[in-house]
Amino acid sequence: MTNLRFIFGDQLNLNISSLRDLDLHEDLLFFFEGMEEFTQVKHHQKKIAFLISARRHFARELEAKGAKVHYIQLDVSSNAQTLRQALEVTINEHSIKKLILTEPSEWHSYQEVLNWKKTFNIPVEIREADHFLCSRTEFKDWSHGRKSLTMEYFYREMRKKYDLLMDGKDPIGGQWNYDQENRKPLKEGMKPPKPYVADKDSITEEVMKLVKDTFSSHFGDLEPFYFAIDRKEALKVLDQFITERLELFGTYQDAMVQGEAWMYHSHLSFYLNCGLLFPMECIEQAIEAFNKQKAPLNSVEGFIRQILGWREYIRGIYWLKMPQYKLENFLVAKHALPQFYWTGKTKMNCLKQCITETKAHAYAHHIQRLMVLGNFTLLAGIDPQEVNEWYWIVYADAYEWVELPNVSGMILYADGGLLASKPYAASGAYINRMSNYCKGCDYKVKEKNGADACPFNYLYWDFLLRNKKRLEKNPRLMRSFQTLEKMSQEKQKNIKEDTQRFFKEIARDL
Ligand code: FAD
Ligand code: SF4
Repeated sequence: MTNLRFIFGDQLNLNISSLRDLDLHEDLLFFFEGMEEFTQVKHHQKKIAFLISARRHFARELEAKGAKVHYIQLDVSSNAQTLRQALEVTINEHSIKKLILTEPSEWHSYQEVLNWKKTFNIPVEIREADHFLCSRTEFKDWSHGRKSLTMEYFYREMRKKYDLLMDGKDPIGGQWNYDQENRKPLKEGMKPPKPYVADKDSITEEVMKLVKDTFSSHFGDLEPFYFAIDRKEALKVLDQFITERLELFGTYQDAMVQGEAWMYHSHLSFYLNCGLLFPMECIEQAIEAFNKQKAPLNSVEGFIRQILGWREYIRGIYWLKMPQYKLENFLVAKHALPQFYWTGKTKMNCLKQCITETKAHAYAHHIQRLMVLGNFTLLAGIDPQEVNEWYWIVYADAYEWVELPNVSGMILYADGGLLASKPYAASGAYINRMSNYCKGCDYKVKEKNGADACPFNYLYWDFLLRNKKRLEKNPRLMRSFQTLEKMSQEKQKNIKEDTQRFFKEIARDL
């Protein structure tokens, strides 16, 4: 009996649940590169090259192990099909008796595969994506009956569940969280290590030509290309992070430096999200470094919190709240995304640097995404649909399940505070404290009003004025609203005028 095992593009791992009990002689493995996949959302060129090359490499790896692979490439003349059409043909041609797959990571794909039994008229076995550390049901159970879904409490449960950094029932070191130690700007003259650069082989070269020929109108620089595209290389990226960056990961987690896109971050999200790496193996390596005293607790705990805490929590929220989560717009934000998010052409140096790096690398680290790019879209009241689309397009690690809660929940407060207890709104002072961007900026970060003032300064107050009714009861914003209350009418008028002038200026670029 021939089973068809369908592998999604973000399930590139021999240990994925759909490959368990694989019968090398009988089963057929199915991979598909569809035009829709890369054009419905017009992904960054580097991202497309990465995803296609990684998929082709994984299929080769399986073939080398003796598996029978049916791989439909985007660039073969016979491929003018949708996934559904391609599956239909394959099922008929190979007399497939059963379809086996691991549940897809995104809501819409999941709805589609639920229909496959009816569509293809054969049994369909959907297996759990058990490479995640918290199942969808488990998250739902955890959330049940809770007034607030604070990440910190979820994370503590996960630490206990997997017995990670625990001393019996207590956290090692006596604290669950070392965030207070993890907010230092980079010291003058410090130079983070260079990121891992993988060599391109003939498969990647071929894919790059395909991307150049087919997707050159998409955002982003295709070259230089340096991502790992198979498991062997991805493991090297992990190893390089553990030996060269983990030690200082925590301390400089929030720091930003002009010209340093990669800092002390791990750069593992690309590989975690497409399956080349599994989360627990990254956690285990960090724990080993801690046990061998090669990395301090604040860094190891900080790193584990990101993967075991934030990543799983974000996924849990996505599945708990889809599909309505996509439509949330609590702050009724409706401005268009400024054109400079695509070009980087803005006088605001922090934004210019983060957008330019995003264009070059399909990567920006968390604080750039949150406190510069995200903070601006929040303060400027940009429509969540437009912001979500941008984040999904531009980052090579972006999939709806992880991008959407980070954008709508974490940066835009579009879910009304389900994910974040207050909006991550900040004036220019925060960016100045955590980066050196302001030194090279046309605007003056210390000035609050007027044409030369840092736009974040007046946009911050305008945001609170605009959203007073929606936010004034939030206890974490009490002090800001008290300050606003004491502000003279004259000052409030200046804020409004500066904001209006700023929007007129950026509208000219649209
Ligand atoms: P590190 O800083 O080294 O962190 C280690 C790992 O922790 C990451 O690889 C990632 O897997 C995980 N992680 C940390 N924070 C988060 C988080 N908030 N949500 C999920 N995982 C997290 N991450 C994505 O993987 N895909 C996205 O599309 C994405 N969109 C984002 C959009 C916004 C607005 C914000 C604020 C954050 C977003 N993140 C996203 C989370 C985070 O910024 C990236 O995971 C991180 O920058 C990836 O770089 P890194 O691997 O060097 O991470
Ligand atoms: Fe950004 Fe304002 Fe600093 Fe310029 S002055 S870099 S706009 S925070």
